[in-house]
Amino acid sequence: MLDRYESIVGKGVIDELRLLSDRLRNRSVQHINSTAVGGGVAEILNRMVPLLKELGVNTRWDVIKGGEQFFEVTKKIHNALHGMREAITPEMWDIFWKTGEDNAREIECSADIMFIHDPQPIALINQKAARQNRWIWRCHIDISNAQTRVLDALRSCIIRYDAAIFSAPSFAKEFPIRQFLISPSIDPLSDKNRELPQEVIDETLLHYDIKNDKPMITQISRFDYLKDPIGVIEVYRKVKRYVDCQLALAGGVAADDPESAEVLQTVKRSAEGDQDIHILLMPHNDIHVNALQRASTVIIQKSVREGFGLTVSEALWKGKPVVASAVGGIPLQIRHKYHGLLCHSIDGAALAVKQLLQNPEYAKRLGANGREHVRQNFLLTRHLREYLLLFLSLYSMEDIIYL
Ligand code: UDP
Repeated sequence: MLDRYESIVGKGVIDELRLLSDRLRNRSVQHINSTAVGGGVAEILNRMVPLLKELGVNTRWDVIKGGEQFFEVTKKIHNALHGMREAITPEMWDIFWKTGEDNAREIECSADIMFIHDPQPIALINQKAARQNRWIWRCHIDISNAQTRVLDALRSCIIRYDAAIFSAPSFAKEFPIRQFLISPSIDPLSDKNRELPQEVIDETLLHYDIKNDKPMITQISRFDYLKDPIGVIEVYRKVKRYVDCQLALAGGVAADDPESAEVLQTVKRSAEGDQDIHILLMPHNDIHVNALQRASTVIIQKSVREGFGLTVSEALWKGKPVVASAVGGIPLQIRHKYHGLLCHSIDGAALAVKQLLQNPEYAKRLGANGREHVRQNFLLTRHLREYLLLFLSLYSMEDIIYL
């Protein structure tokens, strides 16, 4: 499998991964997050874990369990860390910590390197005291504007980790532990991103009853207010006054997001009566997501808050022109007017989409630049290299002593 990346990133990159992982052969790594499907974290782990194993690093991935109430609370915590206003009552915190304790009893946290993703499983750190292993908190959220009270409640856990990882320099906060900046990645060989024959793209459009007779604007995201699907519909309506186009809003629901069903209903109501708006449920169908991205004329990501925003790299990798909000990790992926167009409002997004639909040459140039940017910075191989280096660094002092 690893050899197949050589033609995309070069042999040197793969050789280096082998060299680094050789030094980790006697170490084990355990990833823990809150869902096996849906959302960017699961997307990355699904690709990262098999590659780590292939590299000879003893890796496992566990998912915490929690009831509906727990995930309602963690969604609020997620939103509050993103800077939204959320009221989290003492009873809600009780549910959060209690579920943390239940999971700590269920999940054996015995690997040399414990890799805990996001706030949901953060309380597992309580197991650290009894062990000699190293603990990483991997925060995928932009916490730079987090609600202070919510972040403070988590702080007592965070500071017991050996290290924290954030996706971008601007995401981090001051903590008295080592911090690393590692941006996420996409896998160019996954079903989500690999090249597809035209027949597969055509069949997918047919499957969703979409005609290829007018330009298509697409946003692919979980149905979440933070992804602003209603804003996307407004953008489309403004563009449509000038260019006859269609809109695909494709999404699924993540197992750890109880809000999504309500958002989907609101989106459906808002789109009612317009035959050119396609609301598509395509959970866990990576080929369909890939095909839809490739069939699109312009891809939009109109998030009001964002972690990294993998969908942006996915679109750029397919050479698509992208219009995206300048939030979270999106400005890392798009330099305005070079890799795509950044926007700050519905009007701005509409203007940008219209410009791209009316200037196919310009759109193509942005898409090509975007693809190269992703090749250089946001592919899985770079991400793996940085994780391997981090794992090594966590044990480097000991290695020096034993050498
Ligand atoms: N995704 C998907 N099906 C959907 C909606 C999203 O496969 O219906 C994928 C999308 O292609 C991307 C990931 O879920 O790989 C979302 O990651 P992102 O970082 O964009 O956002 P998050 O959901 O983590 O906030």
